[in-house]
Amino acid sequence: MELDLEEVYKNAGALLEGHFLLSSGNHSQFYLQSAKVLEDSKTAQILAVALAQQITDAGIKVDTVCSPALGGILAGYELARALDARFIFTERVDKVMTLRRGFEVHSGENILICEDIITTGGSALEAANAVEKQGAHIVAFAALANRGFCQKNDSTKEAKPECKLPKTLPFFALDDFDFEIYEPQVCPLCKEGTIAYKPGSRGN
Ligand code: ZN
Repeated sequence: MELDLEEVYKNAGALLEGHFLLSSGNHSQFYLQSAKVLEDSKTAQILAVALAQQITDAGIKVDTVCSPALGGILAGYELARALDARFIFTERVDKVMTLRRGFEVHSGENILICEDIITTGGSALEAANAVEKQGAHIVAFAALANRGFCQKNDSTKEAKPECKLPKTLPFFALDDFDFEIYEPQVCPLCKEGTIAYKPGSRGN
């Protein structure tokens, strides 16, 4: 059965429509609230198994899945379970992505970095750098959804210049969610007179 990720997000009420201020400072009419999809543990498992299948089909061997906190943790944990791999996460300490909580990385350990959504991949890259510094070997990146800046493994849509993921490594995602984002100066929603708000700040 073909997995329709947009349908899964819609059914979970996780594809929000409004006027959103993104962490990048840009505006968008849509916002993906992955936590809302993953609150259903069965759905989380189905998505993770599908993503794991792509990774094993590509012949990628993963010892450990590592996610940047907080957004990537649920997706990464489920993916690790589906891959029968270890799971660790990085978090920001004074803005620097760091391994804490007694997590250790072994030299040559094959690590896949997992996010819920990859936009430009900035946090994923920082997590990769944090574990690479400790001797890990990054084998791939993965996310439930790709926002369309980076090129997922089986896609012909090329990466945009904003994508921060290394082109030398595969990036696996279940689907592309390629909706427009606007710089505030040219945002058509602002021109209509509404004010952009941070997702989460109005109970969503
Ligand atoms: Zn706007």
